[in-house]
Amino acid sequence: MQNVHIGTQCVQGGYTPGNGEPRQIPIVQSTTFKYDTSEDMAKLFDLEASGYFYTRLQNPTNDYVAAKIAALEGGTAGMLTSSGQAANFFALFNIVNAGDHIVASSTIYGGTFNLIAVTMRKMGIEATFVPPTCTDEELDAAFRPNTKAVFGETIANPALTVLDIEQFARAAHAHGVPLIVDNTFATPVNCRPIEWGADIVTHSTTKYMDGHGVAVGGAIVDGGRFDWMAHADKFPGLTTPDESYHGITYAEKFGMGGAFITKCTSQLMRDFGSIQSPQHAFYLNLGLESLHVRMKRHCDNGQAVAEFLAKHPAVSQVHYCGLASDPYHARAEKYLPNGSCGVVSFELKGGREAASAFMKGLRIAAIETHVADARTCCLNPATSTHRQMTDEQLAAAGVPAGLIRISCGLEDSEDLIADIAQALERINEE
Ligand SMILES: *Cc1c(COP(=O)(O)O)cnc(C)c1O
Repeated sequence: MQNVHIGTQCVQGGYTPGNGEPRQIPIVQSTTFKYDTSEDMAKLFDLEASGYFYTRLQNPTNDYVAAKIAALEGGTAGMLTSSGQAANFFALFNIVNAGDHIVASSTIYGGTFNLIAVTMRKMGIEATFVPPTCTDEELDAAFRPNTKAVFGETIANPALTVLDIEQFARAAHAHGVPLIVDNTFATPVNCRPIEWGADIVTHSTTKYMDGHGVAVGGAIVDGGRFDWMAHADKFPGLTTPDESYHGITYAEKFGMGGAFITKCTSQLMRDFGSIQSPQHAFYLNLGLESLHVRMKRHCDNGQAVAEFLAKHPAVSQVHYCGLASDPYHARAEKYLPNGSCGVVSFELKGGREAASAFMKGLRIAAIETHVADARTCCLNPATSTHRQMTDEQLAAAGVPAGLIRISCGLEDSEDLIADIAQALERINEE
């Protein structure tokens, strides 16, 4: 489906049934597929013909949903993974080998930071982290001759910083490497990183794309604009024959639009097997059908809550790029003109005790380690995800003890604000 607006893609993209076929994407709950001759199947194994033979590699349900996400991002090819973690690992490991180096924004999701800084390091891959506010010179200085990829998040979880996608893309391309952007929080409804120069986009579909807290999942989309052959020496996995596939050279056989995802599926999914189940892909698609409608409501609620908090005397600071006072507001106006996301973080003047009293007082917002759900949820890192750290360590890590992250759901903003207001009242009563 081409030349339609993003909302129409959300509802109908990726799957067009033929005459008499199911209107809704069918769940192909089958691990395997049947062939008349072994020769037919051999063509699939040689990547000579496209088709299905085993769900670890490809499944029609997953392919319909991946095609929808690729269309939403304006990419040429896409694939689903079992989680956002798998998506980011695959996107990087598809082009980065032992002995290589990654440049990444320092304010990225904790799981991704750990993946790059600890686990991939054990695999012999090094990384340099740069602040999202870095100058062009600082960014340039982070590159090494063996740098193979640049990584950042459109809106970082949980720091809520906004990436200057054009700046990071310019630096990546000047060094002959692609920019990978995790677009989980913005979603393609609010920002399409490929249009700003990103080459590969990743998602934790667990968040807004699903949006109902039902299925962990991930996705990778290729923008199809990075010329692997022009930098052939840096990316031998794409530009030299793959002996595990009868000597196919991905960049030659599948071109700029198809090489990255074909290699990622036929090597990494084959060997690591982090496939999304067709059932989860079906749930994900139900979420995608209303993504454009829901994002607007999440953003309206986030903005209303952020504005309320910014005026409240018990609150010392609010982080939300939709506020004119936020350091990332100008970037948000450029990259996120229709809104950012529903996640707001704020700091209570009363520190740890105030945060604890506030959280106890909430009636509508639930305490959860989750974001981007239809139901509002809330977390105080100091008493949960970061509870091993002292108040001093927390402050140094930019997660002060009184910091609260609230993910505004789809409820009525009046009720969310009333709930927050009464919980703030309780701080002084405890
Ligand atoms: C949650 C999240 C991830 C990890 O995704 P999972 O689906 O939990 O594996 C990666 N990046 C961002 C920005 C996230 O918010």
